[in-house]
Amino acid sequence: MDNKLKIREVCGDYALDIPFADGSVNTIYFNSKRNAENVKRIIEIDGSKPNHATVCEMEEIRHGKWEFEKDICGCAWFTCTNCHKYIIMAKHRLYPYCPYCGAKMEVENG
Ligand SMILES: [Zn+2]
Repeated sequence: MDNKLKIREVCGDYALDIPFADGSVNTIYFNSKRNAENVKRIIEIDGSKPNHATVCEMEEIRHGKWEFEKDICGCAWFTCTNCHKYIIMAKHRLYPYCPYCGAKMEVENG
């Protein structure tokens, strides 16, 4: 996919079309070409990474989730969505952090 953003001139304003991962496009209008180009540059730099949790990545906080795989002798086998290593544990004792990659785990209620 073409990741480059284009600035269009619209009736003396400058329009920047920002495509989102879900297919929608958000257009921001600027009254100066310089402002439009500054924002374009910022978005293109961010766009080199996956389009989520940019702030968290800058702080080097990894997030993951325990994905339930299967039951083994009454214990649950979970896989870390961040590093894909597995761990066997009781469900009510899910670690808040992945012991392998250190990702902070999202905890679901229940
Ligand atoms: Zn992990």
